[in-house]
Amino acid sequence: MSVQANRVMALSEWEDRWQAGRIGFHQPQVHKFLEKYLDKIVHGQKSIRFFFPLCGKAVDMKWLADMGHTVAGVEISEKGIKQFFEDQSLTYNEEPVPEIPGAKVFKSADGKISIYQCDLYKFSSAIAGKFGGIWDRGALVAINPCDRKKYASLLTSLMESDCRYLIDTLEYNPEQYKGPPFLVTEDGLKNLFEGACDIELLQSTDGFEERHRAWGIEYMTEKVYLLTPKKQ
Ligand code: SAH
Repeated sequence: MSVQANRVMALSEWEDRWQAGRIGFHQPQVHKFLEKYLDKIVHGQKSIRFFFPLCGKAVDMKWLADMGHTVAGVEISEKGIKQFFEDQSLTYNEEPVPEIPGAKVFKSADGKISIYQCDLYKFSSAIAGKFGGIWDRGALVAINPCDRKKYASLLTSLMESDCRYLIDTLEYNPEQYKGPPFLVTEDGLKNLFEGACDIELLQSTDGFEERHRAWGIEYMTEKVYLLTPKKQ
């Protein structure tokens, strides 16, 4: 069993990070792997409905919306969501989500981007249907390892039969850093999704950045996979 198996981050700890501006995970540019593999998700379609689990304020959402796609994200931090719209100079409105007590949805004025403010596990296809594309960066690696099965069944339930799910994972020595982000191995990923999806490793690269030095780790391998639902 992984040394990280029992590590649990409370939702309030994420909110504390947003409040304190400790959001080292945020990237000011479109993610290089989303850019590189976008065609694999879009496969010639004009407009895809994208899902962003644990979206933070990822600039990728605006980038896709500008191309004509629509995006639904889920994020617990209202501060993070508001920063997204402010950073992107987008006007938005705020509404309750009748199916989820206490949840709100923040929608861009043009309706292309909707961010649901709630715990991811309260979200389902009953709220916003299924999706044609999923971009999972800082999501599977960010959830508590004990919740992975629940996460995988939710994500597969949100996939249209022709959905393309692009996922970015990180491998490092978990003895040296407790996470998050947590280690997700190739076997770990297969174990979660193999029953429902075909899994293709698209790329494996050295993902070590200067900021990782402070974590005490010596290497970081970034792997990107494409998941597609198995044909029935
Ligand atoms: N994908 C984004 C954010 C990664 S950090 C990016 O790449 O920049 C993980 C984010 O998930 C944080 O913003 C945190 O507030 C949010 N989060 C963590 N657990 C959550 C949960 N159970 N439900 C909804 N949001 C959650």
